Amino acid sequence: MSVEVRFLGSGNAFAAGGRGHACIMVTATEGRILLDCGGSALPAITAACDPSTIDAVAITHLHGDHFGGLPYLVLQQKYAPRSRPLALGGPPSLGARFLQVADGLYPDFLDEPFPFELEFTTLHETPVRLGPADVSAHPVTHVPASEPHGLRVRVGGKLIAYTGDAAWSDALPALADGADLFICEATTYSTNDPAHLSARELARHRDELRAKRIIVTHLGSESLANRHDLVFDIAEDGATFEV
Ligand SMILES: [Zn+2]
Repeated sequence: MSVEVRFLGSGNAFAAGGRGHACIMVTATEGRILLDCGGSALPAITAACDPSTIDAVAITHLHGDHFGGLPYLVLQQKYAPRSRPLALGGPPSLGARFLQVADGLYPDFLDEPFPFELEFTTLHETPVRLGPADVSAHPVTHVPASEPHGLRVRVGGKLIAYTGDAAWSDALPALADGADLFICEATTYSTNDPAHLSARELARHRDELRAKRIIVTHLGSESLANRHDLVFDIAEDGATFEV
């Protein structure tokens, strides 16, 4: 059976080119998991599916364009109302930061009892079960305060690896190793950024990445301006890939 990967948001923090914040919906026969849930994710989610079909969300790091949509998703599910648990996995501070953001947006967010359980799990290099998938998280080079990780997600017999936001380091070939699909950020085209990867640098390291397929995402304005020179498949908001 194939696994469906649908990009709900393929943009950077600045929503270059009108693209949404990071959110990737992975659907297998076992269930459905989101990889990241950026600030703009909820309208894209409700356009693509019934949010109650989402079993879990795995967050790469604690920047708003990757986890800022979680309070909106949880709020929407509160009033749906959802009854079964929602599993949320991510960096160590995910639970605390989620509560901070949710409280800032909706001060009465947690005043009433929730109709469903939020299950927070800290992701590590040892895989844990998160909804339909076995997920592990691996440190990558990005803004340290965001607790940055890449993800390896085993679901439906496939392995999907995802950088989140990451500059080039030896962590990336290890992250991509053996993946059926490697989803890799390419925020810039050729400009060096200590927190991000350029498409050109990714191309220089292509031979080090033992993944069957690579799709670039988190595209900034420079990447989009040079998109016809990119040597990788490019994510689009709403685009679906079978893995
Ligand atoms: Zn980002």
